Amino acid sequence: MSRPPIIRKQIRPNQQTPNWSDYDGLRATFSWSSARRELTGLPHGGLNIAYEAVDRHATGANRDKVAFRFLGDEHSHEITFSQLSLLTNRFANTLRALGVQQGERVFILADRIPELYVAVLGTLKNGNVACPLFSAFGSSPIATRLSIGDACVLVTTEGLYRRKIIPIRAMLPGLHHLLLVRDDAGAQPIAGTEDLAQLLRTASDQFDIVHTVPEDLALLHFTSGTTGTPKGAMHVHDAVVTHWVSGKYALDLHPDDIFWCTADPGWVTGTSYGIIAPLLHGVTSIIDAADFDADRWYSILESQQVSVWYTAPTAIRMLMKAGAAVAHKHSFPDLRFIASVGEPLNPEAVWWGKEVLGLPIHDNWWQTETGGIMIANTPGFDIKPGSMGRPLPGVDACITRRAPGGKIEIVSQPGIDGELALQRGWPGMMRGYLNNEERYRQCFSDDLYLTGDLARRDADGYFWFVGRSDDVIKSAGHLIGPFEVENALIEHRAVAEAGVIGKPDPTIGEVVKAFVSLRAGFTDSEQLRKDLLGHARSRLGAVMAPKEIEVVASLPRTRSGKIMRRLLKARELGLPEGDLSTLETGP
Ligand code: ATP
Ligand code: MG
Repeated sequence: MSRPPIIRKQIRPNQQTPNWSDYDGLRATFSWSSARRELTGLPHGGLNIAYEAVDRHATGANRDKVAFRFLGDEHSHEITFSQLSLLTNRFANTLRALGVQQGERVFILADRIPELYVAVLGTLKNGNVACPLFSAFGSSPIATRLSIGDACVLVTTEGLYRRKIIPIRAMLPGLHHLLLVRDDAGAQPIAGTEDLAQLLRTASDQFDIVHTVPEDLALLHFTSGTTGTPKGAMHVHDAVVTHWVSGKYALDLHPDDIFWCTADPGWVTGTSYGIIAPLLHGVTSIIDAADFDADRWYSILESQQVSVWYTAPTAIRMLMKAGAAVAHKHSFPDLRFIASVGEPLNPEAVWWGKEVLGLPIHDNWWQTETGGIMIANTPGFDIKPGSMGRPLPGVDACITRRAPGGKIEIVSQPGIDGELALQRGWPGMMRGYLNNEERYRQCFSDDLYLTGDLARRDADGYFWFVGRSDDVIKSAGHLIGPFEVENALIEHRAVAEAGVIGKPDPTIGEVVKAFVSLRAGFTDSEQLRKDLLGHARSRLGAVMAPKEIEVVASLPRTRSGKIMRRLLKARELGLPEGDLSTLETGP
């Protein structure tokens, strides 16, 4: 990058931000047990995420503060912390009355409506395991998840039930309770289901929260399915400590913030940061159920006075594609911190944030398995555009390589590519993959959790994403990370998005092939592709530059917004497409 790093004085500081000047000191003195003491714990011992997130605030200074503001087309609907406490009590009482036992699974399949949030938190209060599912899934991925998750209760809406559950109902004999949010009060109730509103109305709003302990199961989340069949990661109540710490250090949440996390709770980001972390910090969250629309999103930032915004590279690239003029119709004087997760954030996007939104974008890295943010460009620190940042307090990350005998070793010198690994022991770490003990065991080598991502650490301790281990291209004896190639392509003014794969080649192993989609105003032509090849060659050199470029209307992505390189590759090679349950819309 010819441009210098973004220095922190360009970021509007929040006066209450902790003293970041001694980050290494902060990391050295940090301990999970002292962080745990920042939480209250249950009145008679034990730990429950919902108590920390909701009940603890419901009696204190935050009782009348808005916890969630649900945006509607005409009116928004607000729920305060004390109302949320009562509503979740009603839901927990409903589960108790149905006889749902501790540890049993409650699935929630709904758009981002209040009932979804109440159900997740009420489920935790009753000591059951909550599993929110993305409402746009089709029947088949829903059936797979409900059956491997051994669902006992499903909360959904009448409309989703008719369209998606009826066709699979017979396949789910263990699903005892169907609690429906009615869309049409005039219609006949559906046999074999119960009306959630009716149940909540008759349930008491007083509830003795179940005495869960830190190691009790709390949440089940399926991975995005970017590299294969989605895995069900199981998390315990102790994960709340990771949610609290990362909300503080990576997202800089303060009680006076208005926070907007754009992720759906069907993905771990939408639960850890779309529900739990902001509540823990007594913050008001904005919830919008509508699909992406650049003008709408800018209007939300403006009208809701969002101060901290957590979104994803795919959304940022779509905003870039829509052009700066849309942004310039709005102003966001309250916005002070923007973070992104889910995919590599191209340096161009960081700079675009600075130029168009007035703030650079802070990339951070984590996985469904880690339960919370692990590596981040923390607030108050220099951002290195293109880097994921540095490990948060309490997180020990390292680069590993496989020694000739097969043993995993830590690489101590900076600048070397290898598999990113984390020292076991942070509270948010998954406790297993559901029904897949063997796959879970493969994630570990002694005390190291192996992430499956390749990265590099620089001399300042920042980590740089190289690619997923499955995506790395081996060409003429070189290892090429697709991300670096994609970044170079995206610097070209015609390119909106890029996805890069390795294509088998008899002579050099693999050749680099790039798929790109174009920004508005550009059309595919031989000349354009030649230009792009020339641009990539001058930026990357002949070894790394793509040999082939194909222009596509859009790239295949998961519903959580990640480019599915494995699908680009399978299609290119005419191979079976594999598990497509999380594919959004294929080009
Ligand atoms: P599956 O495990 O089913 O293939 P997935 O890994 O995409 O799907 P998630 O847990 O949703 O499922 O995503 C975590 C992955 O997303 C990380 O392992 C990494 O590859 C990618 N990722 C997340 N944040 C970043 C980031 N800031 N930079 C680069 N990659 C990221
Ligand atoms: Mg993964």
